[in-house]
Amino acid sequence: MGNIIDGLAISKKIMHELKEEVDLLKEEKNIAPSLAVILVGNDPSSKIYVRNKAKACETLGIIAQEYYLPEDACECELLSLIKQLNEDDTVDGILLQSPIPSHLNIAKAFSKIKPEKDVDGFNPINIGMLSMGYPVYIPCTPLGVMKMFYEYNIDVEGKNCVIVGRSNIVGKPMAQLLINKSATVTICHTKTKDLKEKLLNADIIISATGKSKLITVDMIKEGTVIIDIGITRKEDGTISGDVDFENVRDKASYITPVPGGVGPMTVTMLMNNVILACKNRRNESEKN
Ligand code: NDP
Repeated sequence: MGNIIDGLAISKKIMHELKEEVDLLKEEKNIAPSLAVILVGNDPSSKIYVRNKAKACETLGIIAQEYYLPEDACECELLSLIKQLNEDDTVDGILLQSPIPSHLNIAKAFSKIKPEKDVDGFNPINIGMLSMGYPVYIPCTPLGVMKMFYEYNIDVEGKNCVIVGRSNIVGKPMAQLLINKSATVTICHTKTKDLKEKLLNADIIISATGKSKLITVDMIKEGTVIIDIGITRKEDGTISGDVDFENVRDKASYITPVPGGVGPMTVTMLMNNVILACKNRRNESEKN
């Protein structure tokens, strides 16, 4: 019991494969994929995420451009930057780091990113394609979780999967990916009655709430697979997940740690999507 899913190791392996793809693009076509990252405001966690994404780009030889807008930026500034990047032929992927200040409409901003440059998979077109079972750009965190299942031979078909959290960027696309793979999915949130009863019925639990130690050992059955997406930043600067890892790990069949679990996979899947966007755009332009 208690096999730890090593997100860092899987991520390193995939990064190595992606580096080979980038090198090949350079050698054969003399092109380097490029990512534009937009950060609005001063959220300290977002700054760390943007830095990590830029570092991963550097490791692979992907060109990363960062665009900073102030906390009080107006909607027109944000939308005009997105328009400029949509039209910029040197940009393959555009990422708007969330959260953004609350006076801005994030759904509207996502909808303005060209679907073919939407490497986060949050544009309504890409969400719709995923819902119909024809995904193009899949949101990075749920995609990373599916890669973990693949790497550890965890078959989700017919399994009772309980997702805790229903956000547009994690919970909902996670549910869609699992449904597409024939899992039976339950989504829980703050209005769910008796979370424990739902979790005790789960073969696989995926938690994305940001509530530290929400899931305790009495809430899971023996042999459950547990994927902990949640991140809570503690005062000492360390992070913890949604699951009481130390007490739960021996009862689970597989479990992801925080840190070192889903986090590195998210960044790696972003790199995967940027390279895909670069290749797709080049293929389209060669056809025309
Ligand atoms: P949101 O705040 O948008 O969503 C949180 C969800 O959790 C909501 O649906 C909320 O329910 C639900 N929730 C909160 N408390 C409870 C509770 N006590 N019981 C049941 N459900 C609860 O967050 P995100 O989806 O953006 O992110 C979730 C977590 O995942 C965060 O900690 C974030 O930092 C982390 N994250 C980690 C990533 C990684 O790479 N590891 C990537 C992205 C996110 P309701 O809808 O009813 O409010």
